[in-house]
Amino acid sequence: MQTIVIAGGGAGGLELATRLGDSLGKSGRARIVLIDRSPTHFWKPLLHTVASGKRDPQMHEVEYSAQAAEHGFQFVCGEVLGVDRASRKIAVGPYRSDDGAEVLPARSLPYDKLVLAFGAVTNFFNIAGAAEHSLTLDSVWQAEQFRKRFLASCMQASSRRTAGATEGAVVNIVIVGGGATGVELAAELSHTVRTLAQYNVHTLDPGRDVRVSIIERSELLLPHLNPRLAKRAARYLGSLGVAVCTGTTVARVDADAVLDTDGIRHASDITLWAAGVEGPAVCTTLGLPVNRLKQIVVNAGLQSPEDADVFAIGDCSSYVCPEKGAAVPPRAQVAHQQAMYLADVLARKPDEEVPDFQYRDYGSLVSLGPFAAVGSLLGSSSGREMLVGGVTARLLYSLMYQKHVMALHGFIRMAAQTVVHWLRGKVSPPVKLH
Ligand SMILES: Cc1cc2nc3c(=O)[nH]c(=O)nc-3n(C[C@H](O)[C@H](O)[C@H](O)COP(=O)(O)OP(=O)(O)OC[C@H]3O[C@@H](n4cnc5c(N)ncnc54)[C@H](O)[C@@H]3O)c2cc1C
Repeated sequence: MQTIVIAGGGAGGLELATRLGDSLGKSGRARIVLIDRSPTHFWKPLLHTVASGKRDPQMHEVEYSAQAAEHGFQFVCGEVLGVDRASRKIAVGPYRSDDGAEVLPARSLPYDKLVLAFGAVTNFFNIAGAAEHSLTLDSVWQAEQFRKRFLASCMQASSRRTAGATEGAVVNIVIVGGGATGVELAAELSHTVRTLAQYNVHTLDPGRDVRVSIIERSELLLPHLNPRLAKRAARYLGSLGVAVCTGTTVARVDADAVLDTDGIRHASDITLWAAGVEGPAVCTTLGLPVNRLKQIVVNAGLQSPEDADVFAIGDCSSYVCPEKGAAVPPRAQVAHQQAMYLADVLARKPDEEVPDFQYRDYGSLVSLGPFAAVGSLLGSSSGREMLVGGVTARLLYSLMYQKHVMALHGFIRMAAQTVVHWLRGKVSPPVKLH
């Protein structure tokens, strides 16, 4: 019986493990193993809602061990440190508890086929001080770190203002990067700060004392989307009081400011870096071809051209669409389609013909807080792009997550979970207050 190992249980990896477990694992046709460094899965596109306090991550986490038991795969907790492709062994580091104590020792796992699904990490583009002085949104832990600092900064500034001080009585938040992550976070924060004021967590004037700004190098926000959407998003953010500085390039990040290449200093109590992603460092240690963003290059079968038994999907991979001549974007939509493709291909008999991976761009949606979103349906490449906005776009945006939950748990559990979350929202404050 062959062993298929999936390294990384994110948007792509967990959907793949679930499908392959159901199709091959349960019937004993293959041993399916999922490795992740964390014991729980959280869908990454929701991280900005954790950072703004809108979402309690524990309510949305999936326990890998439970999912494995239910869907016929095995879960191994630990960080993949490297792969010995000659002996087909994966080096997994020890799993440690929060206080650093070793819970599980380092291990070596055999594989016949390996799917790399590590996701991506923040790319600081070697900007001085960026890694040292910025927070990022790569994990639940980082999103929580941002939320706690945001809350603490609001409370400190509020206390200073109450004591009559003018210095330190405002909160400046600078988000570097006007892509979907930066725009979505800025919109959520504007709502959160108003809600915190309603609950008297702080006594700041949300419009005057909490200044959220976005710095974007391109001339427009959301540079990968239709310019009309970008303008619409900028107008909406403006109405929320978010300052949008487009055409601005960051030169350096200090502990209390972001400096741009025109020499302008943007005061910042909290800097969040959301300017781009790259493959994690482990991708460069495998002896496989990677692109300049350290993503593993794959062919139309999502295999490394160097090793037909190693596949890569999602943000850690680079697949160039032959029709467009460009790499598919690092999006959950891509990770999902690639997972579904491999779930089909890896379940086929060895002599069966395998089709090429075909990426279908169904469009993009960007949330602008709880009541609005902008986006395009069908994708710009189809030539039939349909722009959407407002509440309709917001509803469609919510469906993206439901689709992921459905891929993991099926329709009935997705529906039940949606109702539970809705009811919980009715009986608890709309944002986390501590
Ligand atoms: C705030 C935010 C908003 C976004 N919004 C959208 C959106 O609206 N639409 C959209 O399509 N996309 C969105 N994205 C992008 C989307 O989240 C990613 O494209 C998608 O999650 C990629 O899926 P993946 O499976 O490649 O990786 P991930 O979902 O990132 O999962 C990677 C997994 O690998 C694990 N891992 C990493 N390294 C190791 C290792 N060495 N050993 C073991 N395990 C490891 C991690 O713990 C994680 O579980 C957003 C991203 C962010 C941060």
